[in-house]
Amino acid sequence: MRKKIIIGNWKMNKDKKETENFLNEISKKKFETDKDTIYGIAVPSINIETFSLLKTNEMKISSQDISQFDSGAYTGEISSSMLKSFGVTYVVIGHSERRAYHFETNKTVNLKAVNAIKNGLVPIICVGETLDEYENKQSKEVVGKQIKESLKGLDLSKIVVAYEPVWAIGTGKTATFEYAQEICEFIHSITSKELLIQYGGSVNGSNIKDLLNQPDIDGALVGGASLEVDSFISLISK
Ligand code: PEP
Repeated sequence: MRKKIIIGNWKMNKDKKETENFLNEISKKKFETDKDTIYGIAVPSINIETFSLLKTNEMKISSQDISQFDSGAYTGEISSSMLKSFGVTYVVIGHSERRAYHFETNKTVNLKAVNAIKNGLVPIICVGETLDEYENKQSKEVVGKQIKESLKGLDLSKIVVAYEPVWAIGTGKTATFEYAQEICEFIHSITSKELLIQYGGSVNGSNIKDLLNQPDIDGALVGGASLEVDSFISLISK
């Protein structure tokens, strides 16, 4: 049986003090998680050290991006091995915000994922259609192409895919459970039944259980609702 994996994405939020406050607060809370559920947070790189020093539970650390290169003259970039040396396990790659604002292509996403795996990180590869594509009923065509090109040559047992319809990210509009399930089932059908597939897009404590009950949805990638301790706990509690 596939495990469940819930990862928060803090995006460009929380400075050092706010990161410390979150971890101090969560360390005082009592909550129970399912032993088969992996959970963690994709933290801004500059706060990963603070996060790794203060975290007191099973929380995994993810980064929000990596360089496709190992080292060298790439000003501003951070490599997989640097992240690994700070205890990072997962790395979000090809988030729609990076595809849109940093012009990342499926090819770049693929190269980053290859580099992550080579250095022992688990890539969380994001795919998803825009509102226009959704309305024009092109979702499967678009997502199918993203999957084919972004996952090219990858060992599917070493990656996670996050299906995130762009129109549902940060908008409060969640895809219906049936629709999210249909696309995740489609992704399984063109990859492998072993692949872990998260859904992302306005997930919160009230809708996560229903989403996770869908047979092809193995977890969630969560932005807004991962920022506050209580709402994060509502995502990961049994
Ligand atoms: C995300 O950042 O990947 C995301 C899904 O954001 P939100 O949960 O806020 O829609």
